[in-house]
Amino acid sequence: TNQFSQPITQMANLINTIQATVASAERIFQVFDETEMQTVSAADDIDTQTMISFDHVAFNYQADQPLMTDYSMQVQTGEMIAIVGPTGAGKSTIINLLERFYDPTSGVIRLKGQDTRKLTRTQLRSHFAMVLQESWLFAGTILENIRYGNLEASEAEVIAAAKMAYADEFIMSLPAGYQTLLNEEGSNISQGQRQLLTIARAFIANPEILILDEATSSVDTMTEQLIQAAMGRLLHGRTSFVVAHRLSTIRNADQILVMDHGSIVESGKHNELLKANGRYAELYNSQFDTLIE
Ligand code: ADP
Repeated sequence: TNQFSQPITQMANLINTIQATVASAERIFQVFDETEMQTVSAADDIDTQTMISFDHVAFNYQADQPLMTDYSMQVQTGEMIAIVGPTGAGKSTIINLLERFYDPTSGVIRLKGQDTRKLTRTQLRSHFAMVLQESWLFAGTILENIRYGNLEASEAEVIAAAKMAYADEFIMSLPAGYQTLLNEEGSNISQGQRQLLTIARAFIANPEILILDEATSSVDTMTEQLIQAAMGRLLHGRTSFVVAHRLSTIRNADQILVMDHGSIVESGKHNELLKANGRYAELYNSQFDTLIE
């Protein structure tokens, strides 16, 4: 497979960070969400061309440790953004900002032109779905686990989503099918199967924006192909932010965000960045050349 070999282990951190953040953030937001919508004056124009924009965004977790100082970018509707960089480079920070687990210390992040602080976190997050390597499954049936992406979904819609995600076949091969009870870690099905369920959950959520973390762990070749095919389908026509491990993904990306020490040091397409002969080229030559195409 075409993978960035070195960053692989590093991505485990990203998932842990996001999961820890999500878990704690969800608890907090359950309490505060609908009450803490910020009042920002003057209505913004709705912009349907630009899905996400960062407008002079500065951010730090700790005042003495500035990460991003003044970053602007525009992500057009339907674009795929690949995020690359070593551990601690700031990949999960971008996701934290997009989903408002944290707010910028200055500057504005917009969704279709609208300041995201004008939306409740629930409203904001209804635009996103995350597909991470370590799926968040809960103790319950497969049906319930997929439906979690959209609690209103009918059983027929759950099955349709599972089919889109190439998960229906393995589900139907289980004695209890969609009623199969998963344990909390989902450890009674394989890792690849857990990923297919997460993809099915994202299909049923039908978000405009996807955040995904490309799988790096070894699953069998057959499941790997299903995951790739399902991911391809899921990405189609959506705006996406991909923490990328595959050279093919990075090459196909509309923009690559190259991160280092907490900030975005370069951005552009693969060929442009190679030509620029900066950090990306350095990463590419030092780490990425071990890849098998
Ligand atoms: P990556 O996802 O690329 O591994 P992160 O976005 O997690 O990188 O981290 C970027 C920088 O921010 C690192 O220096 C990290 O230590 C720091 N950082 C990440 N999360 C927090 C947090 N919640 N509090 C303080 N510092 C953090």
